[in-house]
Amino acid sequence: MALIVHKYGGTSVGSVDRIKAVAERIIKSQSSGNRVVAVVSAMAGETNRLFALASELCPNPDARETDVLVSTGEQVSAALLTIRLQALGQPAISFLAHQLRISTDSNHGRARIKSIDSKRVLQALERRNIVVVAGYQGVDADGNITTLGRGASDLTAVALAAALRADLCEIYTDVDGVYTADPNLCPDARKLARISYEEMMELAGLGAKVLQLRSVEMAKRFNVPLMVRSSFSEITGTWVGQEDREMEDVLVSGVTLDNNQSKITIAGIDDRPGIAAGIFGPIAQDGIVVDMIIQNASADGRTDMTFTVARADLPPALALVQDVARQIGAAGVRHEEHVAKVSIVGAGMRSHAGVAAKAFEVLANHGINIEMIATSEIKISVVVGAKFGEIAMQALHEEFIGRAAQPPAAAKAS
Ligand code: ADP
Ligand code: ASP
Ligand code: MG
Repeated sequence: MALIVHKYGGTSVGSVDRIKAVAERIIKSQSSGNRVVAVVSAMAGETNRLFALASELCPNPDARETDVLVSTGEQVSAALLTIRLQALGQPAISFLAHQLRISTDSNHGRARIKSIDSKRVLQALERRNIVVVAGYQGVDADGNITTLGRGASDLTAVALAAALRADLCEIYTDVDGVYTADPNLCPDARKLARISYEEMMELAGLGAKVLQLRSVEMAKRFNVPLMVRSSFSEITGTWVGQEDREMEDVLVSGVTLDNNQSKITIAGIDDRPGIAAGIFGPIAQDGIVVDMIIQNASADGRTDMTFTVARADLPPALALVQDVARQIGAAGVRHEEHVAKVSIVGAGMRSHAGVAAKAFEVLANHGINIEMIATSEIKISVVVGAKFGEIAMQALHEEFIGRAAQPPAAAKAS
């Protein structure tokens, strides 16, 4: 008998009718011989609604109380799904994170899971229950409710699958798998049959929200096989698992667009040891994640430093940088509030040269100026003006994926 963790996202439990359909799917899975644990998100739009309510009352609401508030969305859907399962004659029981001791640190809004006590789930399963778990939430050592970060019901599902040594974790969502680009933005996007954990981590980190980044990291660490699939159909989805030889033959698996980036430049700073640490230390201390960093070649002992942050972090990052710039006698601080980061990801880049050159050529042919470049073993990211983001994504998709892509001619690594 297989143990399967299902995870249903916001759209999948977004209405009474959708919850009815989910209950039927779960019962079908159980009738075919599986034991099922179902992790649910809040109903579509609910978490945003709760955040907005808090900000109407206070511009900067307390993090602990915010978690008490925004974790309620998942409580509602867990109870509703359980009620429906029971109405269909299926024994079922719901649990909140504190009832399962999904223990986390105390970083409200982005808490990390430390451990899960799987005993209660296993006991309930033994009594032939479907177990329904509220996603996105945890509890800290002092009994405070925490949340795990936006989109983190995926993480609850994978963490439970790891703790229960489940055979499979199925992520049910509103698309029928992982695509070569966001199918809602790129009409040519194709569904992938399989993708490696590493590639999925890159895609997730670069803005493909179909899986939350930390959930993929955890799946890789504990070797949890994932299947991303639609809650609206029976179509097989996309397997996410260990890389195999065939995957390395695929040059580019996906293209992403992150339209929520801002760029900051500190101009005319001394080119000497300690300056970068002086700039980025205070930013890191404030919990702001800096993404791409470029330091220009030094001229006359002076240099420029440019970096990107998530757009939501621009105001605090700018305030900190302006402070530091004054202290270190920089010539000035410039910023661009809205830039786009477009990336291509593929395990095949490890063994094929020339991908970056081809990507730059494609952008040049479209008259798109590249403002920043960053690469890793299996990805190339460029920052371009906001209005070029979608065109750049579509052009790169067409070049590397749209027409049955081959490694660039004469560029194959030996
Ligand atoms: P859920 O509420 O089920 O967790 P999400 O909205 O978090 O669903 O994630 C699904 C969405 O991810 C899709 O509707 C799609 O727009 C977006 N997405 C972005 N990139 C991709 C991709 N490469 N493949 C599939 N979906 C993607
Ligand atoms: N409801 C939470 C959110 O909107 C968690 C999730 O859906 O995964 O971020
Ligand atoms: Mg999601």
